[in-house]
Amino acid sequence: MPIAPEHLALLYTGPFDAYLYGRNSRDPKMKGSSVDDQMHEGREICNDNGWPIKREFTDVGRSASRYAKRERKEFEEMIAGIEAGDCRILVAWEASRYYRDLEVYVRLRNVCMQAGVLLCYNGTVYDLSKRADRKATAQDALQAEDEAEGIRDRNLRTARLNAKAGMPHGRILWGYARRYDPDTGDLVEQYPHPERAAVVTSIFERIAAGETEYSILQTLRAKGDRLPGLRWENHHLRSMLRNPSYKGSRVFQGAELGEAKWPGLVDAETYEAVQAIIKRPERRTMGSSEIVHLLSGLSRCGECPTAPPLRVLKCRGYKAYQCSEKFDTVMREEKLDAYVEEAVIEWLQSKAPAAAFASEDGQRKVEAARLRHAQMQAQLDEARAKAAKFGPDGKPKLSIESLAALETSLLPLIEEARAQAGVLVGVPPVLRGIIGRSDVDAIWHNMSLEQRRSVLRTVVDIRLMKARAQGVRTIEPGRIRLTFVGEPGFIGWRPGPVLRRLADEPETESR
Ligand SMILES: [Zn+2]
Repeated sequence: MPIAPEHLALLYTGPFDAYLYGRNSRDPKMKGSSVDDQMHEGREICNDNGWPIKREFTDVGRSASRYAKRERKEFEEMIAGIEAGDCRILVAWEASRYYRDLEVYVRLRNVCMQAGVLLCYNGTVYDLSKRADRKATAQDALQAEDEAEGIRDRNLRTARLNAKAGMPHGRILWGYARRYDPDTGDLVEQYPHPERAAVVTSIFERIAAGETEYSILQTLRAKGDRLPGLRWENHHLRSMLRNPSYKGSRVFQGAELGEAKWPGLVDAETYEAVQAIIKRPERRTMGSSEIVHLLSGLSRCGECPTAPPLRVLKCRGYKAYQCSEKFDTVMREEKLDAYVEEAVIEWLQSKAPAAAFASEDGQRKVEAARLRHAQMQAQLDEARAKAAKFGPDGKPKLSIESLAALETSLLPLIEEARAQAGVLVGVPPVLRGIIGRSDVDAIWHNMSLEQRRSVLRTVVDIRLMKARAQGVRTIEPGRIRLTFVGEPGFIGWRPGPVLRRLADEPETESR
């Protein structure tokens, strides 16, 4: 029976002097490097099992007829060596290397059988003096004609060797470019693509900063196609964000094999931060492409007592927000979006948010700091005035030394109080840098959909009411009820329907 190379020494006595045989691939895409790969793999098998390499035979350019003569010579030399008992085992790449045709196989079989030489290929050792092994190799010889299968195996092995050596293999990774040797066609290096590499880096950084795949996808699409004629899709991002090759690790069949020969586009820290984010369960359930509307799920039906969220539905050819429960309220998407955005921008520009977010306790502290600041400032002003005034004795009413001492102790305290007095207490992070600015409009338009939604979620409660009558196109007063944070009746956002009835809502009789 065929045996594994590592068991050979248990069943046979050595030494196992080896012949290595490599042959150029017929696959034109493999270029000239595969003979080296074969020899490399063969040497590895020999070294792993302690088989001394007696001689190496490499055939190159098999397909070119002018080499055919030389190749035959190499092959004949190998046969002669085997016959002479120069080796104990013949290590080759795969069956198809030996028997491109059955005639060659029969010759090789007979010579190995007579000389008692073992045959090793495809990671298995065959003893051709045994019937079962002859049968197995004969089958392999027949199958060797199945060129496609042979090439598939070979490519897999090449991929594994490349991965081991830290070289890239397979399709080029988006964000990189490759340089090939103009003569041999061999891959020389994989390097960051002059334009695309920065895109990859920013995608990782934006995810690490908390942005969603969806919003990144929007930006990418706005900038252009991923490849000419192929737009960016969510799955591109998904596989990119999970690919350790981008931090400069080589990967083979899902396993990281260490440092690659190409530079990473993302540092390991950012990469790990991204892994932690994309593995969060809520991220998986909340499909990143689900949210495409500003107010879906954030606005609620004002007619139903449980205030179910509005969902976007196609309605007579246009998209509209609708009550997700009774479908009793409906408004065109752009209309509701525009109304809410305008109102929220106006509110953000007003003084209302600062007041809303200063908690009572915080407000008291701010007030106290303002008072303290004013008192100390007055004290210092008074001292300075005194120091500038001179008494009848011709001396300043306050000595320069005293003023200096007072300034030294007061100035830091004044500075501290000023800082405390100016602080907005309890402003959620999402609103920092927005509140109280006069250019909220511009800021808003530069925000991503996600950022806008988090602002809305934080500051406003949106209820859609029924229209007075069918066909009323304008937004009549009371049609959209906005309750901002700090106003009575504001309910913070939470998913699903609001089960608690609002205090100011009229009681609805249950029947
Ligand atoms: Zn409803």
